This record gives sequence, structure tokens and C-alpha cells, in this order.
Amino acid sequence: MLQMLSSLLHHGSSVPENSPLPYTVKVSSRAKNARLKMTPHGGLVVVLPEGFNKKHLPALLQRHEAWIKQAAARIEVHRPEPLPLTENGLPYTIALHNSNEKWSVVYNNQGRRVLDVDDAGGRRLLLSADVADAELCRSQLLTWLKRQAHKHLIPSLGKLAAAQDFKYAEALVRLQHSRWGSCTSRQLITLNTKLLFLPDHLVRYIMIHELCHTVQMNHSKAFWALVSKHDPLWHTHNVEMKSAWKYVPAWVSAQS
Ligand SMILES: [Zn+2]
Repeated sequence: MLQMLSSLLHHGSSVPENSPLPYTVKVSSRAKNARLKMTPHGGLVVVLPEGFNKKHLPALLQRHEAWIKQAAARIEVHRPEPLPLTENGLPYTIALHNSNEKWSVVYNNQGRRVLDVDDAGGRRLLLSADVADAELCRSQLLTWLKRQAHKHLIPSLGKLAAAQDFKYAEALVRLQHSRWGSCTSRQLITLNTKLLFLPDHLVRYIMIHELCHTVQMNHSKAFWALVSKHDPLWHTHNVEMKSAWKYVPAWVSAQS
């Protein structure tokens, strides 16, 4: 299983004095220590254990200033050019990296709650729904996205498995918050819909990773040796996965 490095958290933001970046504080009953994470669309998040005296926050941020700057810079350098959005954050264009398809979304505000797919040549999605109802529109688009994931990701997993001599019982796609993929002991492989937005070499790495779990249900040395046989650059790819959420547009990442 591969966890996404970061998650989106929406809590009250505050801008501290002497800090270069705004940040969000989250108090977690599960956190043992204070920790920092840089999130794709929410910026810096400070996770504090219960009872942490916020008086110590400025010192904490100062101590990790170098890391914060570095993490923020990394996001800016590699963040794909953001595509135009409607006023309430819905996409006009959906660029699927994995299948190399660009879809335009036309909103026609008729409130009929239907999504028509015009695949004739222009690759257009016609969404007849109240555009002001962002959640409704978003869920319609996500349903369509999941169908795309099924159409593209499941066959490529099948091809890769056949070419590399792996067997699995079943594969499905889900829109998941924190896992790129998983594989059960019954060899059911689940792929995250969000993989549609990732470059090919990373999608392949995730697929190889999960296929190797059909042989090794752990992250032992034997597991990584097997991964390395099918993806010699696995280590670089594994590191790249830590910031791969940057490829996923905000309207898809947002938690509902
Ligand atoms: Zn794994």
C-alpha cells in the first residue's frame, strides 16, 4: 500500500508574526509530537498534540524554517500550471495525463442534473446543473472521472500484469483520499482514480508496486527486490510519489 504524503485539512488559518508563510493549526488527539506538513492546496499545516502550549509555536516554526522554505519551494517549482476554474472552483478543462486526453466542461445552468458526454471529436462534457451548486457539479464530474479511471487504468494494469507475468484476482478503481493503490491477501488490487492525473512512469510504478504485493504481502527486502526487478528506478519513483499529489487538481483533491 502506498500512502499519500499529505492530506487536505481545513481549519482556521492564521498568519503568525515573523513567519514567511501562512499556516493552519490542527490539534490531533493521536499526535504524540508536533509535526509539520506541506499540503498541496492548503499550504503549511502544523499538527499539534492535545495540550501543546501554543506559546511554543513560533519557536517550533523558527526551528524548522529551512525545511518549510524548502518544502514550499518544491511545491512552486513542480506545480503544474493551474487550469482556469469557475468562480466556485469547478474546472473548465480536465487534462488527464495518463490517457493524454483534454476534456472541456461546458456548464449550462439548466438544473437538470445531467452530465452528457460529447465524445464525437471535441471531447466535451455538458453539465446541465445549477453551477452555483458546486458540490452537485463536482460529484457529477467525479462520477465521470471514475468511469474514465475504470476505462483506462484497469486495462493498463491487465496489460502490465500479463507482460510482467503477474496474476491478480480482481481490480477496481476508487476515489481515495490517502492511498494510491492497495492489494489484499485475496489479490484484489484497488487503484486510486487520481492516478489519471499522474505521469505514466509513476502510474506504472504504482501498478508494479501493487502487483508485487500479490507475491509479497509486505514491504520486506524480498518485496523491494521484486519491485526492483520490474522497475529498476523504483527508488526514484518512490521518492517522486511523495509529492505526486501536486499533479491532482484541487477540485478533485478537496474532501467532501
Ligand atoms: Zn505497498
